Amino acid sequence: MAKLKIRKIGDEALRKVCRPVEEITPRTLMLLDDMVETMRAADGVGLAAPQVGILRRIVVIEVEEGNVIELINPKIIATAGEQEGVEGCLSVPNRRGTVKRPRHVTVRATDRNGQTFEISGSDLLARAFCHELDHLDGKLYVDRASRMEEI
Ligand code: ZN
Repeated sequence: MAKLKIRKIGDEALRKVCRPVEEITPRTLMLLDDMVETMRAADGVGLAAPQVGILRRIVVIEVEEGNVIELINPKIIATAGEQEGVEGCLSVPNRRGTVKRPRHVTVRATDRNGQTFEISGSDLLARAFCHELDHLDGKLYVDRASRMEEI
C-alpha cells in the first residue's frame, strides 16, 4: 500500500466530473487500498478519488473506526429529512463550514467484487455520503456552506 498525495482546493482535479469505473481491475483494488491508507493517515472520515488526482467514481468512507465503506460508481437513490452541521475536507485545510444535508441517505454502488449493493446511513454517515459523492461531480462543500470559518 502507498500513501497518496491529497490535492488541495485550487487544484483543477477537484473540479472535474469523474468518469465511471467500467471494469474493476487489480489497479482499482490497489487504488482502494491506497485511498484507505491515505484517508487514515490524514485522519479523515472520507476520501474521493479526485482528491488524489484520479478522475474516477470511487469513494472510501470510515465514519466508524474499522468499518470501511468502499463505493464504486455510487449513486444516491433516496434521501429523507434534513440536518445542518459543520463540515471539513482534507482538500480544504484549516477551514470548516456549516452545510445543510439530508438526515438519511441511501446509496447504490458496486463493491470491489463487482457486486451491486445498497447502503443507508443517517447523521454523520449521511453527510459523508453527500460530501464524498459531491467530489465525484467536481463539487466542494465550500460551494454549499452557509458560513465558513478558519480553524
Ligand atoms: Zn472532501
